[in-house]
Amino acid sequence: MKNLLDLDPAALTQWLAERGQKPFRARQLLRWVHQRFESDFASMTDLAGGFRTSLAGEAAVVGPTVIRDTTAADGTRKWLLDAGGGNAVEAVYIPETDRGTLCISSQAGCALDCAFCSTGRQGFNRNLTTGEIVGQLWHANRMLLADGDPTSPAAQSRRAHSALSGDSAAAKPRASLDHPAPWVEAGHAPITNVVMMGMGEPLANFENVVPALRLFLDDNAYGLSRRRVTLSTSGLVPWIDRLRDECPVALAVSLHAPTDELRDRLVPINRKHPLATLMAACVRYIERAPRDFVTFEYVMLDGVNDQPVHARALIDLVRDVPCKLNLIPFNPFAGSGFTTSPRERIRAFAATLQDAGLVATVRKTRGDDIDAACGQLAGQVHDRTRRRLATRIHVSAAR
Ligand code: SAH
Ligand code: SF4
Repeated sequence: MKNLLDLDPAALTQWLAERGQKPFRARQLLRWVHQRFESDFASMTDLAGGFRTSLAGEAAVVGPTVIRDTTAADGTRKWLLDAGGGNAVEAVYIPETDRGTLCISSQAGCALDCAFCSTGRQGFNRNLTTGEIVGQLWHANRMLLADGDPTSPAAQSRRAHSALSGDSAAAKPRASLDHPAPWVEAGHAPITNVVMMGMGEPLANFENVVPALRLFLDDNAYGLSRRRVTLSTSGLVPWIDRLRDECPVALAVSLHAPTDELRDRLVPINRKHPLATLMAACVRYIERAPRDFVTFEYVMLDGVNDQPVHARALIDLVRDVPCKLNLIPFNPFAGSGFTTSPRERIRAFAATLQDAGLVATVRKTRGDDIDAACGQLAGQVHDRTRRRLATRIHVSAAR
């Protein structure tokens, strides 16, 4: 069975051509799947009956399996999605007054082992498929649209379920339920921005990530502008160049240290692609990028990378790169060995950068009460769920 979420526009056109179908059929199908979030071919009323029947025989639209769905007091919503084999990944929806952003995962776990990252701690499990990456956006849009209409069956059953399970976070009225997000026109997709900043290193899964990006951008699918799709990387230099050539979306680079000596320790991939080559790649990227700047992310670690000397070295480092700096308060997790810089020090660090003429902002933390912030996306499966998944795996292994 072919999962249509796995096929980018070119692949879908090709797949249909092999079945004697014209390219406009691909456009129709893309709109049904990625704009109306329909998974039932029988409901795709403007497709010929015979075509619908043959599609149903060899294709399906398969979204993710949700293990847990939690909403924070500030409206941030996190879906824990089954990645098989006892693993899970997370997608996080962040509503703001003028936009709705979805933070998407690209891998189950991550091999790059950054010292301060809980995803890195769990090691690498596997690459997500294109369908699993696109499925996060497909699912979030579909659920948020359903909830936006309080009379929809999905919204009603969710409310009933929340009340029954006594899940206090989920039982809270959602912003989108009682006050539809103002940027959402009736029937339109609620997600306006995508950031590939969830679990995993997206450029280490280039072959599956790029087709997903193409769907995010395609007018017959999600139709997002390149500026509204951001890919965050820890700095895989050759792949930054390939991304520039094949699909230059907005680029964020996880810098976290201004010298090779420190970055080698915090972001081990730096030993392979040191700062000078990384900065050069950023400059090359900007020549072709949809935004005229790179966003540098810099996690603020108490006493490690947050001193005035680091700020000054950082100013020197990024001098030739059109950029913005985003300072991220470290999100602590058990056994990390790091603590968050005090708020005053973060403010002083930002002020030093700003005084040197750089654009520097401090990231607001969102969804604190549901562990939805950067670096906390560890696909934690709580004990009860973990046991259930483990049982399932044993059962299928025993078959
Ligand atoms: N692998 C990619 C994208 C996912 S991580 C990357 O590293 O860029 C998204 C961002 O969260 C990165 O900037 C990452 O360094 C940061 N991050 C990881 N762990 C964190 C933590 N515990 N606290 C704050 N930010 C963290
Ligand atoms: Fe991987 Fe990014 Fe975490 Fe580093 S920060 S371990 S690259 S997910």
